[in-house]
Amino acid sequence: MSKAHRGKGIATLVSAGRGQCPVCKRDGVKLLYEQEIEGVKQKICKICKATIANKK
Ligand SMILES: [Zn+2]
Repeated sequence: MSKAHRGKGIATLVSAGRGQCPVCKRDGVKLLYEQEIEGVKQKICKICKATIANKK
C-alpha cells in the first residue's frame, strides 16, 4: 500500500491518527510511526521519528 501515512490510509485510524506525541508533547499531530522509547512501543510524529533517525 502506497502512502501508508497519508490520506485515506489514516482516515480509518482513531482520530485519523492524531493525538499528542509522547516525545515532543505537541497535540493534534499525526502519530504515524511506531518507535520503541525506553522499551515501550509508542506512536510518534514524523518530526520525532526524523529526530531519532538522525541521532543514530
Ligand atoms: Zn513528536
